[in-house]
Amino acid sequence: MPTAVISDMHGNAEALRAVLADIDSRKIDRIVCLGDIIGYGPEPLECVDLVAERCAWSLMGNHDFGVLYEPTNFNMAAAAAAYWTREQFDRVEDISLREKRYRFLGSLRVRVVEKADGSGPPVLAVHGSPRRPINEYIFPNDVIGATDKIDQIMAAIDHIAVVGHTHVPGVFTSEPDFYPPEEIGADKTYVFREGEKAVINVGSVGQPRDHDPRASYAILHPDRVQFVRVQYDVEKTAAKIRAIPELTDWLAERLIEGR
Ligand code: ZN
Repeated sequence: MPTAVISDMHGNAEALRAVLADIDSRKIDRIVCLGDIIGYGPEPLECVDLVAERCAWSLMGNHDFGVLYEPTNFNMAAAAAAYWTREQFDRVEDISLREKRYRFLGSLRVRVVEKADGSGPPVLAVHGSPRRPINEYIFPNDVIGATDKIDQIMAAIDHIAVVGHTHVPGVFTSEPDFYPPEEIGADKTYVFREGEKAVINVGSVGQPRDHDPRASYAILHPDRVQFVRVQYDVEKTAAKIRAIPELTDWLAERLIEGR
């Protein structure tokens, strides 16, 4: 069975529910999450509950870390969103429910290595990068402007790694090169070559930044990965963000524009 890999839902429950429905419609029953469940979006509690219920495991992203511990290297809007998000967890009156959610956030790992479906070579999963799993971004432009960085990242993996964090889906190869899903074929499926090293960014469920507002995730098989986009009610999430003073309106605008 393939595994659905989701990442960066960022408190966008509308997008997350649409993605889970798409995964269910394909009869895929194993889902894993690369982190940034919360931060920025208007429904952090719902997102944590859905991920806890539906995913085999989740990693810790920098925003999960920021809410649970402290926002590190966040801009003002992101820090304000992190503090607002923490308040939503803290104001839950049911103490056991509050504790349960914090325990879940505290249990998130920073890296997982496992086989895609019990067969094939192991896959490394991190939120950011193999070198710095929580915070390092691997940007598409790095294949031109930071080839040493890509070389070091490729040296740190055995075969395939899956990441999130930049909210831009695609495949990094060791040339180095970067291929957005549209450039790898009509079915947006990238087939792994024997012995090759590749870093797969699955994109973001709740805040895509590749100028396509639809939610992004990927379906991982032992020998290939397929990128998927899912339409959801972006305006509904945007309206919820605008109704919360602590979340800047820019967070609604960027969802609509996909950036
Ligand atoms: Zn993120």
